[in-house]
Amino acid sequence: MVLSEGVHKSFGRTEVLRGIDLAVDRGEVMCVIGPSGSGKSTFLRCINHLEKINSGRLSVAGQLIGYREKGGKLHELPVREIAAQRRRIGMVFQRFNLFPHMTALENVMEAPRKVKRLPKDKVRAAAAALLDRVGLADRAGHYPSQLSGGQQQRVAIARALAMEPDLMLFDEPTSALDPELVGEVLDVMKTLARDGMTMIVVTHELGFAREVADTLVFMDEGVILEQGDPATLLASPSHPRLQEFLSKVL
Ligand code: ATP
Ligand code: MG
Repeated sequence: MVLSEGVHKSFGRTEVLRGIDLAVDRGEVMCVIGPSGSGKSTFLRCINHLEKINSGRLSVAGQLIGYREKGGKLHELPVREIAAQRRRIGMVFQRFNLFPHMTALENVMEAPRKVKRLPKDKVRAAAAALLDRVGLADRAGHYPSQLSGGQQQRVAIARALAMEPDLMLFDEPTSALDPELVGEVLDVMKTLARDGMTMIVVTHELGFAREVADTLVFMDEGVILEQGDPATLLASPSHPRLQEFLSKVL
């Protein structure tokens, strides 16, 4: 579903990604851990072409992201086609970024209404079902300011799901939350994983990674130093940098 081959990304002279190779199959969950500044967010942003890669190849569902190959060369896709690719990929950030002037239900309805131009009744029913799925059926009419951080983040997940993505990207979705609200968001993500969603999750929630991830990736200074079965990696990390990282996080 996601294939990254030799992906490099620089900002000016700083090489932030230095050859990322990984593969996520359909229905699999990959968790990514690593120190601050190691390139985790940048990599996620490359997957939906919010950042342009300098070399390598990235594809989702067999489709090259951001480029078309022609005569052995890569040509960047027109904006419209990039937008179409992005619609297939849901993204949830640390900050929920809900529209403050819209209710929970309206937030979830917004993208399908604007982009898919479906009839309002149909979109409303689908959005209500999604709010129910994230446990917020009774909060549909609330504005973001009337919701807790955990509830807002669950609305953000429902909003991303409203476009029926093939893939969900999460960038530290619980790290801005009060500790007592982390569990409810992770529970929603666990359900999503069990329902077969393909997910890449940058997180420091190692319990979640151990329980849910098919693969755990440790990124450091723009390279993957170790990847594999989460329980094995966490219990017996072989790379000294991962050992050091875990000793700080645990
Ligand atoms: P954190 O755990 O703190 O979120 P991260 O692993 O997500 O860190 P990134 O945000 O991907 O790290 O950043 C990797 C490096 O790239 C950092 O050194 C950062 O300063 C740099 N960087 C990120 N975005 C830009 C940008 N737009 N312009 C210049 N440098 C950037
Ligand atoms: Mg980050």
